[in-house]
Amino acid sequence: MSKMSDSFGRSFPYIRLSITDVCNFKCGYCLPNGYFKVENKPGFLNLDEISNLVAAFTELGVSKIRITGGEPTVRKDFFEVLKNIKSEHEISNLVITTNGYKLNEIAEELIATRINGINISIDSLDRNKFKEITGQDRLPQILEGINILQNKGFKNIKVNAVLLKNVNDSLEEFQNWERFINNNEIDFRYIELMQTGDNLEYFKKYHTSAFVFKKYIESQDWKEISRISDAGPSINYVHSKLKGKFGIIAPYSKDFCSTCNRLRITAKGELRLCLFGNTGTNLRPYLQNQNQKDELIELILKQLRFKKESHYLETGNTGMTPHLASIGG
Ligand code: SAM
Ligand code: SF4
Repeated sequence: MSKMSDSFGRSFPYIRLSITDVCNFKCGYCLPNGYFKVENKPGFLNLDEISNLVAAFTELGVSKIRITGGEPTVRKDFFEVLKNIKSEHEISNLVITTNGYKLNEIAEELIATRINGINISIDSLDRNKFKEITGQDRLPQILEGINILQNKGFKNIKVNAVLLKNVNDSLEEFQNWERFINNNEIDFRYIELMQTGDNLEYFKKYHTSAFVFKKYIESQDWKEISRISDAGPSINYVHSKLKGKFGIIAPYSKDFCSTCNRLRITAKGELRLCLFGNTGTNLRPYLQNQNQKDELIELILKQLRFKKESHYLETGNTGMTPHLASIGG
């Protein structure tokens, strides 16, 4: 049971922890010109700092941690991060989000870390479109990686795509995904494109409501199912005759924030109460020593009182978030 709750009655059993801002893709909505190396001092949280952070959140009742980035798998000690969290802390649900660029090479090592799930971002099953959106011709390696994971019996693979107007919002694309999830028994979700500090032009050109996909799945007899407490923000659907689940993440929908159950930590140790908040709290000074845990817990609980009711994204507010690579999405 999470000991963290806010003034709006929401509780927080789920942390999204970014371990790097670096990414090797150039997704048009996120880092269209690629990652620019900036002065990186101090660097990203090290293994000890991550461990001290996770210890505090475990004590606060967090049961789910998602490791994200940038691209988390580019970090050299990526596997150590996962293994340490699994072996040193009682986190029942440790999952990652990745662009999967070398999933075929790392699938077996990933399984060995004993993580509980993986979200892979694939914006289209059409190789050319995939390349156009992400700037990388990596779809075959990702699909091969998924195959390896499945052949080894790894469960809980989810695929996410950002829904883009006139790019991947056609009937053909929807049907491709329907075949894919039925053949592979995988969950697939479309995320509605979000405006961030840097992507206004892209957003104006490509944003489309998740309603177009909702309309499709409801016409095909997919039925909405209910949500569990530490689940992500998607609305999920099952079909009586097909395998896999469809899902929709619609951040602009009414009430999206009322089910918020997660907090974010940036790769340099800032606590962010919202994906689009205006402030962050630097936890790093409290991560230097295991003995600082009580102070750290006190600070986190104090900050939670400032969590706002909504992201106010519909008013064009993007807070201090230039792109989602800076906060882990
Ligand atoms: N690099 C990893 C990846 O792409 O899976 C992890 C980090 S990425 C920021 C996390 C998720 O955010 C990805 O699924 C990505 O598609 C999504 N994302 C990035 N920018 C977005 C935006 N402007 N709107 C909606 N989703 C976005
Ligand atoms: Fe990189 Fe993920 Fe952003 Fe794409 S969405 S540029 S893979 S961080």
